[in-house]
Amino acid sequence: MEYHRQLGLSPETFETVLDHVERASYEGTEYRHVPDYRRGVERGTVLFDGAVVRGFPKVPRTLVLGAGVPQQFDGPVAVEEKLNGYNTRIARIDGDVLAFSRSGLVCPYTTWFVERRLDLDPLFDDHPDTAVCGEMIGSENPYTPHDYSGVDSLAFRAFDWRDRQSGEPLDVRGRRERYGEYGVPQVRLFGVYDPDDAADELREIIDQLDADDREGIVMKSLDGVTQLKYTTSAANRGDLAYAFSLPFDYGQAFMFRRLIREAFQSIEWNESPEQAHKRAHAVGEAIVLSMTETIERVADGEAVGERHTVRGDPAAIDDLLDHLDAQGLTIDVQADDRVERERDGAERVVTFCKRVQSTNDTIRGYLDGQIVRE
Ligand code: ATP
Ligand code: MG
Repeated sequence: MEYHRQLGLSPETFETVLDHVERASYEGTEYRHVPDYRRGVERGTVLFDGAVVRGFPKVPRTLVLGAGVPQQFDGPVAVEEKLNGYNTRIARIDGDVLAFSRSGLVCPYTTWFVERRLDLDPLFDDHPDTAVCGEMIGSENPYTPHDYSGVDSLAFRAFDWRDRQSGEPLDVRGRRERYGEYGVPQVRLFGVYDPDDAADELREIIDQLDADDREGIVMKSLDGVTQLKYTTSAANRGDLAYAFSLPFDYGQAFMFRRLIREAFQSIEWNESPEQAHKRAHAVGEAIVLSMTETIERVADGEAVGERHTVRGDPAAIDDLLDHLDAQGLTIDVQADDRVERERDGAERVVTFCKRVQSTNDTIRGYLDGQIVRE
């Protein structure tokens, strides 16, 4: 079937979408994807070998739980944990199980992982048109590393089950049951609540996640269609610390949004002056200490950047490095080891740095006395 029909677009509208697709290739197959938000088609939508894999929808956010939740939902709300990793859609196209990134690229590393560590064939045999949607989490990954207790290196957690072409989700209970049946690990479900009086329970969940340095929650209508997210102060601070460790490479809007969240949370939670000061102090530390640490490293002659460690099949790691290179990133490999593992044979563990230019150059300039006229 033609792509425009699969996407439910007129040929004319599809033409305008085509102006914004990018081309890429995976193991000799040329494909197209939509890297940014577009009218009529979700970001991350992929056109691969005659098949469409719909982008994962943007999840809206509330800054005030007590007001935002009743605003967004008019029926029961399922509350699931929001994990901090990278969004992955998995589909089987023409017999091959492929893992797609948020923007719609096939990630060779994630594809290798999924093939090696998850057995999705029974699921795809029964439901060939499914996009298995979830988060890849753990400390060893090439995009968004974050430590989770109980996750050694990298793991997958499913949070959605969609028709790959229409993007239509399965309802929350049906989805959880099916993943249970196929043995696919999933995000935690905290419970189902009435939107008008969930505030106290949500607050408790958030407090616990915050204490555990976990990211937050995604609330969903039971049919799986409407979503809403909310994050912990720990996640906001973690993001701020990360962004301010590379202050001239991260968008200032990214930082501003996270600061705003902290203020609204402080107000909604009716913090005492002591609690508000404690929050302000923690936010200030996240910002200033991560910057001073970076400046010290540059002063010591080090190059700063986004550091990642990945572990896996030697060929899969090669493919990943090529994949990052093809995206125009400059990768400095800092350590490259081979480990023999009884179960898996040879494994390669690589630590690399995605080079960032502005932070290194600007800090160097300031340290050398460059005069700023603002
Ligand atoms: P985008 O919405 O474009 O992905 P973003 O940076 O705003 O970008 P996040 O703030 O991480 O994204 O929030 C949305 C993402 O949260 C989803 O795309 C998904 O990868 C992730 N996520 C983690 N856990 C869940 C969950 N339980 N339900 C839905 N999404 C989840
Ligand atoms: Mg995320």
